[in-house]
Amino acid sequence: MKWFYQCHACGATYEIEPGRYLCTPCSKLQQKDRPLAGVLEVDWEGEADPRTVPLPIEQKWFATIPVGQTPLWSPLRLREEFGAPNLWLKDDTCNPSGSFKDRASWLVAAFAKKHGVKEIVLASTGNAASSMAAVGAAAGLRIKVFLPAKAPLAKRIQVLQYGAELVAVDGTYDKAFDLSLEYSGRTGSLSRNTAYNPLTIEGKKTVAFEIVDDLQRVGSGAPDHVFVPVGDGVILAGVYRGFENLLRLGRIKRIPTVWACQAEGSNAIARALASPLAGNDAFGDPVSSNTLADSISVDVPRNGLHALAKLKKYAGKAVTVSDDEILVAQKKLASGSGLFAEPSSSAAFAGWLKVRQGLSADETCVLLITGSGLKDIAAAARGLGLEA
Ligand SMILES: [Zn+2]
Repeated sequence: MKWFYQCHACGATYEIEPGRYLCTPCSKLQQKDRPLAGVLEVDWEGEADPRTVPLPIEQKWFATIPVGQTPLWSPLRLREEFGAPNLWLKDDTCNPSGSFKDRASWLVAAFAKKHGVKEIVLASTGNAASSMAAVGAAAGLRIKVFLPAKAPLAKRIQVLQYGAELVAVDGTYDKAFDLSLEYSGRTGSLSRNTAYNPLTIEGKKTVAFEIVDDLQRVGSGAPDHVFVPVGDGVILAGVYRGFENLLRLGRIKRIPTVWACQAEGSNAIARALASPLAGNDAFGDPVSSNTLADSISVDVPRNGLHALAKLKKYAGKAVTVSDDEILVAQKKLASGSGLFAEPSSSAAFAGWLKVRQGLSADETCVLLITGSGLKDIAAAARGLGLEA
């Protein structure tokens, strides 16, 4: 198999090598305050073994920390309450750092080990940072993170416990993103900025393989609907990439309906999908994000153009939910299933609650639960009327 990067917009191809992040001509069209232009996808030529997940880095480079293979399970009480016999939870809170982001960090760390890179740098709203710090600790890599000073305490504590260097940024994620790029550009460190590094999308595709493997094991086949919490649009694109691979390998017959679940206060991708305009014009000027779901709170969705292209290509849908709906869903999910999810993941459940009556009970719905509720105690406390 020969692996390469391919621009999702113009189709140009590139070697997978350190220093390559975006498509050269497309990235020159980058507009200020707009999603990243020229995001690359990973692809391959040749025959792949349909029984395994095709990945561009050989297994021997992966850290031994157990990422992925998280449980897909049936929340029986929620199924009964809502008359949804085919509802499933994909519980990625079981990853080592308590977040789905470990899937991306794991692949990026393997790439760094393969190429002898010693330091990885990134900006994050919190989960990518704590995740990269965890996997970096397992792999023996230096990790430097730029994090908004207001990121939840638990995520900052994780970063420091795992031994990473934390740079607190007085400002938003968007400012942290720019500062981290300036640093990696100056020092030659490997950037793990989400969407900017194509491996962050590729690593996340593994979840689609696990969902299909587990459903096929119980005779359910492929899912009909997958509900994904969406901020930057990278998890969304990663999930789509996994299903595209599965289709190519003959493991599924069609791409499921993917639902982009966004907070009302950070809904750039949902607005772009509803817009009659295309590309950057669909996004318009950024709107300052305002939601308690910090993991999906972004002004400019970095992977917006790529995510929008996928949603349009596969007739994906968007649903937006208010912070109150997120908090109600968080409590309902925890008390109805035993799974305590952070607000962003609860947005996926809130999105399902909002649209479920339009879905058929025989359709298989998978909710992607991407982060543990213990990562953001303050938001959960607010939902309970407690002071944190
Ligand atoms: Zn291009």
